[in-house]
Amino acid sequence: MKKLLLIATGGTIACRETENGLSPALSGTELLHFIPQLSDFCTVDVCDLMQLDSTDLTADDRLAMAQAVRRDADQYDGFVIAHGTDTLAYTAALLYHILTDLTKPVVLTGSMLPMGASSSDAPRNLLDACRVAADGRAGVVAVLCGKILPGNRVVKFHSTQIDAFLSAGAPPLGTVGADGKVRWDVPAAPPAPSAPAALDPHVLLLKLTPDLEPSFFSALHGYPKVILETFGAGGIPARLEHAVRALIESSTRVYITSQCTAGGVHLHHYAVGRRAEALGAISLGDRTTEDALAAVMCGEI
Ligand code: ASP
Repeated sequence: MKKLLLIATGGTIACRETENGLSPALSGTELLHFIPQLSDFCTVDVCDLMQLDSTDLTADDRLAMAQAVRRDADQYDGFVIAHGTDTLAYTAALLYHILTDLTKPVVLTGSMLPMGASSSDAPRNLLDACRVAADGRAGVVAVLCGKILPGNRVVKFHSTQIDAFLSAGAPPLGTVGADGKVRWDVPAAPPAPSAPAALDPHVLLLKLTPDLEPSFFSALHGYPKVILETFGAGGIPARLEHAVRALIESSTRVYITSQCTAGGVHLHHYAVGRRAEALGAISLGDRTTEDALAAVMCGEI
């Protein structure tokens, strides 16, 4: 019998209707009451860490989740984090970078409808997440709608439908079938050596639009790290060249990502991309937005 820890953090999965709209209310133990099948293959302890809509989570909250896992890493075979879906991808990516050396599964899940609501995806997602955590494969993943998504590739692409997540730029790692069987389609990655020493949340993500005014950049001078979400394969518009150069000269590190969900940045391809290279901007490759933020916050790039 596998021993798991459920870390409850809030989100729709734990929500109840209030006079102010949906708000997290269910404890981890209350969530577990909805999936009695768990006792067939595992025992689950509960850590009620926080009860928040994931819109309200900050880096400190995400670090608290990582610490809750580390504190009890020797006690459990796997960890399940029940989380709001809106920023689940940010948490998955950050934990992916922070818990690189962990030899246990860490599985994030949530739901689009509250636990107990008619046709809710919550019981299936929580049960599937526990099945994946009990399966024993190390690493940070998200389990939603039967898919096992790598922690650094999670994207929420739909705000209302039940199947709301995809794995950007790489196939899902596997699936959990209707029969409850965990199937891995991608081989396990070897464990990475060590976790980052410190985390700097002072990273600004700025979306370029075709008419963004160059004067806007002067307000950012000296800000530690700025990620520019550019178009397609990546590049700096000619009319912003001077403004981005001044920003870099002000000691801000400037990174380039793409508005495209997959395919990544290829700065050497077009003249507009070479312009970015010549300015000293750093490509974030094919990372998702959430993974790019996590990698930069952890000082990996
Ligand atoms: N607003 C909710 C949250 O992210 C949405 C959800 O969980 O589906 O906490």
